[in-house]
Amino acid sequence: MSDGIDLHLHSDHSDGVLDPESLVALLAQSGVHTFALTDHDTTAGLDRAATAALAAGLRAIAGIELSASWLGRTIHVVGLGVDPGAAAMQAAVATRHAMRRARAANIALRLDRAGAPGSAALAWLAGVAVPTRTHFARALAELGAARDAAAAFDRWLGHGKPGHVPSEWPALEATVAEIRAAGGTAVLAHPLRYRLSAGQRRTLVKTFAAAGGEALEVVTGGLAPHQLETATGLALRAGLAGSVGSDCHDPALPWHRPGRLAKLPEAVVPVWDRWAPAPAGAR
Ligand code: AMP
Ligand code: MN
Ligand code: MN
Ligand code: MN
Repeated sequence: MSDGIDLHLHSDHSDGVLDPESLVALLAQSGVHTFALTDHDTTAGLDRAATAALAAGLRAIAGIELSASWLGRTIHVVGLGVDPGAAAMQAAVATRHAMRRARAANIALRLDRAGAPGSAALAWLAGVAVPTRTHFARALAELGAARDAAAAFDRWLGHGKPGHVPSEWPALEATVAEIRAAGGTAVLAHPLRYRLSAGQRRTLVKTFAAAGGEALEVVTGGLAPHQLETATGLALRAGLAGSVGSDCHDPALPWHRPGRLAKLPEAVVPVWDRWAPAPAGAR
């Protein structure tokens, strides 16, 4: 089934539930040998993940999932092999943290106006370094405003709902440039999850490739077989390499469990070829 590779994962440094050590333990048990921790807009968990990986005999690729904007939509770009100390990466992270803090205050205000406990939720996530909507969803569930986090998205935080604040993240092209400036490879995350028509989606992939993006996340958690075909076609048409990532936030959600992903189709060049050791005799 899977290639033992998972290049899209979250820890509790963003909106995942596991700390980096627990995540690495889960990966080791799941047969994953090469992984990238890709928390939203932060590299804070990478050192701990790398240390745990070394101890467990796994290969860790330094990753991040940056929030970007294109055509008024939020698009996620995974950076693989980034240098967290690079000025471009530190600036990318700092910009988005400021935007997230401002947005969190805005979300709280809108929730309050709609009769939900927005301020209480904001207080609940005061200590969170990278406040995401997932944190709001958990807080709203905790505060009794929704049955669970998924219901909180449906009722309060999802597109068109009272607590939905349209985000103005840095542009897609600028985001790809930030990743490249930090020595990383830019991967367009979960290409079929955006609210786009098929034509817009092809334009997105083309724009991403023209901006210097190198790979498309062809295999992602929860893809149906016909979607895998669609994603493969998108990568091939744009001349992009392919990546594989579960996007696991919580191992209790079965369709996002690491180690259960489909193999990258043979026709697609694997993005991890660039980290494979050079074959003997090669230059
Ligand atoms: P943010 O980057 O703060 O807008 O938060 C986005 C995150 O919220 C995504 O990465 C998902 O983990 C989560 N999310 C978005 N939509 C939903 C949904 N409908 N149900 C559950 N989680 C969601
Ligand atoms: Mn998330
Ligand atoms: Mn994402
Ligand atoms: Mn993700």
